[in-house]
Amino acid sequence: MKPIKKLAMLDLNGTVIKSRRDDGFVTTRDEWTWEDGAPEALQLLANNGWMMAVVTNQPAEHRFPNVTHQRMEYLMGYVRGAMEEVAQSSIPFFVCYHDVKHSCSCRKPHPGALRRAFNYFCPGGGLTTERDEWDVWMVGDKLSDIEAGESFGANVCGVNSTPLASLGGFQYRYRPTLLDAVKDILLCDRSPNEDLH
Ligand SMILES: [Mg+2]
Ligand SMILES: [Zn+2]
Repeated sequence: MKPIKKLAMLDLNGTVIKSRRDDGFVTTRDEWTWEDGAPEALQLLANNGWMMAVVTNQPAEHRFPNVTHQRMEYLMGYVRGAMEEVAQSSIPFFVCYHDVKHSCSCRKPHPGALRRAFNYFCPGGGLTTERDEWDVWMVGDKLSDIEAGESFGANVCGVNSTPLASLGGFQYRYRPTLLDAVKDILLCDRSPNEDLH
């Protein structure tokens, strides 16, 4: 039996990092800090053979006149570096820099960026054809993360201190923090004793 390949797709803001600003946006390297337990969660995933990718909507350049695309790209690179340093693992970022009005296919709840993330690890593949070989999760704090994950066909886990299930009548798994979510995902792991690295 082929080993299961494991990929955790993570939302960024409100899941891995939190804003120091009142409006919740992060536009500079000084405006964020880790969500509680997030570094440990990244280490836990890496140490248990999980590949990781970040799938995030970052529309700030369309919302604030002083925020440029370059600045957001720099920020994403900086946060990626910080995540990779704590996890000691490569964590590619798949960023939608568009805003709602652009009607792109990569802005969650659309699954375009999740598909790109999956194809980075599995070129040309989709979850319908690769279902037996891949265990893929999408974890995020918003309903749009859950919808994107479900739309792509991944397992989904919400991260929120209040029941996301109350939003839109959806029923799905949610945990208070990313670390709780990751511990839960590891319990569901179909190949707990295999180290793929
Ligand atoms: Mg979020
Ligand atoms: Zn987009």
